Amino acid sequence: MGQRHEEERRVDFPGPIVIGAGPSGLAVAACLSQRGVPSLVLERRDCIASLWQHKTYDRLRLHLPKNFCELPLLGFPRDFPRYPTKRQFVQYMESYASRFSIEPKFNEEVLTAEFDQMCGVWRVQTKGCVYASRWLVVATGENAEPAVPGIPGLEKFRGSVVHTSGYKSGSGFRNKRVLVVGCGNSGMEVSLDLCRHNAMPHMVVRDTVHVLPREMFFGLSTFGVATVLLKWLPPKWVDRLLLIVADFKFGDTGRLGLRRPKTGPIELKNVTGRTPVLDVGALSQIKSGGIKVTVGVKEVTRTGARFVDGRELEFDSIILATGYKSNVTAWLKGEFEELFTGEGMGRGWKGIDGLYAAGLTRKGLLGIGQDAVRIAADVASQWEKDAAFVAGR
Ligand SMILES: Cc1cc2nc3c(=O)[nH]c(=O)nc-3n(C[C@H](O)[C@H](O)[C@H](O)COP(=O)(O)OP(=O)(O)OC[C@H]3O[C@@H](n4cnc5c(N)ncnc54)[C@H](O)[C@@H]3O)c2cc1C
Repeated sequence: MGQRHEEERRVDFPGPIVIGAGPSGLAVAACLSQRGVPSLVLERRDCIASLWQHKTYDRLRLHLPKNFCELPLLGFPRDFPRYPTKRQFVQYMESYASRFSIEPKFNEEVLTAEFDQMCGVWRVQTKGCVYASRWLVVATGENAEPAVPGIPGLEKFRGSVVHTSGYKSGSGFRNKRVLVVGCGNSGMEVSLDLCRHNAMPHMVVRDTVHVLPREMFFGLSTFGVATVLLKWLPPKWVDRLLLIVADFKFGDTGRLGLRRPKTGPIELKNVTGRTPVLDVGALSQIKSGGIKVTVGVKEVTRTGARFVDGRELEFDSIILATGYKSNVTAWLKGEFEELFTGEGMGRGWKGIDGLYAAGLTRKGLLGIGQDAVRIAADVASQWEKDAAFVAGR
């Protein structure tokens, strides 16, 4: 232990320490830099936007139109399509970092972060260094680790098992029978991708789900229309309208095995954080039988799965489209219930003792931008007060 301390570097940083170099961390660093406040961004991987670069499938495009996914101070290039590809999004992130001269420290995984009450600073421990600062910004994302539910028998399965964070394309699954566990945006898109590569996906739909068209009529984005309507109408009314349009476009999705929840899509998102699926083509494959919908899995067997309705089917591979979880509770030490839930999701953007959170309240890239602007303004006001004090003003 003594030797480790001798080797450990100590860095006192005058501005905030930002953990994570995804869109949230970059947006906070950019907004701080615009206000003249330096920040230090620590990133566990070797690149910015590592989720987008390494943990997403090739066919991914932004789910929402680009105007709802821009970070503060710099928009997408005009010639980008309405729904930029993953490669274009990464390109945008790279130019964003370079425009604001953000140079994260890569391969610096934060192991612990703790507030030192005596000295009034945050101590952030990585493998070889302890950083100290008055401010700590948590930007480690809602998708920090894959969420893998306990499925009975999964360990017995003889075929391949992969989480969507490790899935790139359906090209390796040609003519294979694939069980896709989960029917959110990722489950639907992976099933569609498998179809397009001549695989035979069976998608498990255990629960109820809202599927909405990505666009309504005349190319109007569903998300865009809902956002405008919510300025004037209560969520219940907007939900009603969205469901009328969805029924008109798709018919009764319940007949396809996709039963709708009783609560409308916006109300459900507000209460539980569950995002509705924005359809990009999976539904027509479900209708034509390219994607088969199954009920919940009772247990996985050595060669396939047994379902809760008693059926048993054989599969070559299983893809877990079971979502992600935050990792905040694993490394943030102390009691911070006012800012974080027990699952490490954010309740807002500001806590006590100089603690902030960006991008943890399930509001997507739009919410990330709002968090970044607020955090930068708050820190900058303290920074300016300190500067005035030092200058004796
Ligand atoms: C497939 C997919 C599609 C999506 N599409 C959209 C969309 O169209 N529109 C939209 O608004 N949102 C979308 N999202 C939501 C998505 O979460 C955000 O777009 C965005 O990536 C969140 O940014 P973030 O910086 O908060 O988190 P992340 O992008 O996850 O970045 C967090 C960073 O923190 C790093 N990190 C984590 N733990 C540590 C640690 N202990 N120490 C150091 N570094 C750490 C990670 O390596 C990562 O680089 C999508 C998400 C997924 C998974």
